[in-house]
Amino acid sequence: MKVHIIHLYPKEMNIYGDTGNRLVLSQRLKWRGYEPIVHLVGLGDKLPAETDIILGGGGQDSGQALVIDDLAKRQAELNAMADDGVTMLMICGMYQLFGHYFLTQDGDKLPGISVFNLVTRGSNQRLIGNIVSETPFGQLVGYENHSGLTELAKGLAALGKCPKGQGNNGADQNEGATVQNVFGSYLHGPILSKNPHFADELITRTIERKSGQKVQLTPLSDELELAAANVAKSRPR
Ligand code: GLN
Repeated sequence: MKVHIIHLYPKEMNIYGDTGNRLVLSQRLKWRGYEPIVHLVGLGDKLPAETDIILGGGGQDSGQALVIDDLAKRQAELNAMADDGVTMLMICGMYQLFGHYFLTQDGDKLPGISVFNLVTRGSNQRLIGNIVSETPFGQLVGYENHSGLTELAKGLAALGKCPKGQGNNGADQNEGATVQNVFGSYLHGPILSKNPHFADELITRTIERKSGQKVQLTPLSDELELAAANVAKSRPR
């Protein structure tokens, strides 16, 4: 089975190794006998006719400013895909732009596409360091670096709770957001390399949606991935 992975704005929105998420998903799909087809979608490029997974990464405020006009043109299409159950993983800067807006420290309001009912405001401190988040899909380990403080509207589920680390805003212990099969998170690292169970959650949802059947993925040895997560967890912030 072919699985179409779309990486949105790989040039403008791709810091702290977020491209790794695409590599991890591709490799874990291949190991299970699926055929990943990767599409890099930049400014002005059309989304391919078949879209199974959409990935977006983090970026500087300046990178976010570069993509907002293009993203606005995709608002209806991306919201329709989210409603239709397409799997999406948006990290940091793209997570913020999947909300209503990001108000930068400089006072620029960067509009988002409102897939998530949340807003983000830049602060004058950066939230930096290793972070551990407890989610319904297990523990996630990553690295955060952002100035934006994200507030979820009532009714929007956080992806996880972070006793260690700042997460969405450093105050309510929420980390990330999730609706349908769309996930937003501040975790770089890249997030999927140290959290193979979460990568498999995304793959399972994607294959189940495509096939209309329950899927049991072949287990893999995740020894190295989990060893990396343990090292990151033990490092001081
Ligand atoms: N520019 C945004 C912020 O500082 C996003 C940062 C990021 O993607 N790492 O909040």
